[in-house]
Amino acid sequence: MESSGHSDGSFKIPNIRFTKLFINGEFVDAVSGNTFETIDPRTGETITRVAEGDKEDIDLAVKAARDAFDNGEWPRMSGYERGRMIMKYADLVEENIEELAALDAIDAGMLFRTGKTANIHLCSHLLRYYAGAADKIHGETLKMSGEFQGYTLREPIGVVGHIIPWNFPSGMFFIKAAPALAAGCTMIVKPAEQTPLSALFCAHLAKLAGIPDGVINVVNGFGPKAGAAISSHMDIDKVSFTGSTEVGRLVMQAAAQSNLKVVSLELGGKSPVIIFDDADVDMAVDGEMCIAGSRVYVQEGIYDRFVQKAAEKAKAWVVGDPFDPLTLQGPQADKKQFDKILSYIEHGKREGATLLTGGKACSEKGYYIEPTIFTDVKEDMLIVKDEIFGPVMSLMKFKTVEEAIKRANSTRYGLAAGIVTNNLNTVNRVSRSIRAGIIWVNCYLVLSGDFPFGGYKMSGFGKDMGMQALEKYLHVKSVVTPIYHSPW
Ligand code: NAD
Repeated sequence: MESSGHSDGSFKIPNIRFTKLFINGEFVDAVSGNTFETIDPRTGETITRVAEGDKEDIDLAVKAARDAFDNGEWPRMSGYERGRMIMKYADLVEENIEELAALDAIDAGMLFRTGKTANIHLCSHLLRYYAGAADKIHGETLKMSGEFQGYTLREPIGVVGHIIPWNFPSGMFFIKAAPALAAGCTMIVKPAEQTPLSALFCAHLAKLAGIPDGVINVVNGFGPKAGAAISSHMDIDKVSFTGSTEVGRLVMQAAAQSNLKVVSLELGGKSPVIIFDDADVDMAVDGEMCIAGSRVYVQEGIYDRFVQKAAEKAKAWVVGDPFDPLTLQGPQADKKQFDKILSYIEHGKREGATLLTGGKACSEKGYYIEPTIFTDVKEDMLIVKDEIFGPVMSLMKFKTVEEAIKRANSTRYGLAAGIVTNNLNTVNRVSRSIRAGIIWVNCYLVLSGDFPFGGYKMSGFGKDMGMQALEKYLHVKSVVTPIYHSPW
């Protein structure tokens, strides 16, 4: 493994322009005046300090969003007009792709190259996809039995609280905001405390696009304070959460104990990838290294070759500065995550798994970890059961299709799965048998705004993206009228 360790100078790290809270169309300080530091995972040093929102700030943001929803033009304008404004927002996102990608690189350690291409294009794609849907939201006409007829209206659900994690910060912002905007909702976004910078920039672009004040509010802050103030708020109609299963449970409890707001949860995963004997080993290893599939089941006929090639590949893997075009893996997003991954690696060693490659930090400063592969792994080890969310792969051998299905399903999660084979019967059988929200066949982690994404089991419920996500932000209302004359 090499560490590229430097930047090539062809990019420009943006000046950080937005560090306050964005409430009712203005950047404002927190009521308390408190701030917290956001850290560059490349160095472990402070990038800047941002305003720290708390319950009082969430109250102000909800008040603005409530007023924009109850009295403002956004939910009342035609879907066509809303769509036009969201299109304008998409144009601005595209014009500012480099700045958004750079903010995610310095704040979350995401590869700048990836941010510019795949991720940021997902953002503008999401905006355009839902902009096109905004004027196609309509109900049905229903003939009822007897003397009555009726129709349904599909109305925006109201004020939405979006709570999002640190991985993929700008993508996550638009995965949540784009369908909610198209539906006519107003919202409060709470970015992860590790990665507030791109969300604030996205709020600035919303203002430039002409999205009315109060429709999008961004409150930075910590989960137990600002996040909890959203999930327990009496005047928020829906909370859309992405994050860990543990916190998802807290969000649902708080929603139940407050005003029974509608909840959707996109939670953790421990997604299996199953590689069958007929797969091209080189291609399968390449694919695996790119995505660091966390539970990798390899059929016995190609297992040894796969292990050998995976080790070679991991040793040549370039870990380094996310701005360097040669880098294949950037730093972990923060110290907490960095420490958590290293402690899982230690646990794996103690439990008796064999460390094939990696296993430690790989730079003096910053949060870089070597790509780590374990073999001789057992299903009941913690490294196989728990979500690690880092460059740690467990390789396991299997014999039959039935065994692969059973072991792939032996998890409390059900976010995603991958299958690598050229046998169509195996594809059909395995993809229908695995209990997960998305199955990638001969590819992995391919995400697109038009495909619904979201888990089964303890990976949550309620889809993000696709037309299904639009439904999450709509209520259906039935209106009933007599056909001939009113009984009153
Ligand atoms: P996390 O659950 O710790 O935090 C997520 C968000 O919740 C943050 O904004 C945090 O501030 C907030 N939060 C924390 N405590 C809270 C509380 N008590 N009440 C309300 N909000 C609170 O997760 P993370 O470590 O930031 O992100 C990683 C997790 O996200 C992983 O488990 C990963 O699998 C998951 N994730 C899931 C998906 C998906 O689509 N299913 C996508 C990306 C990430």
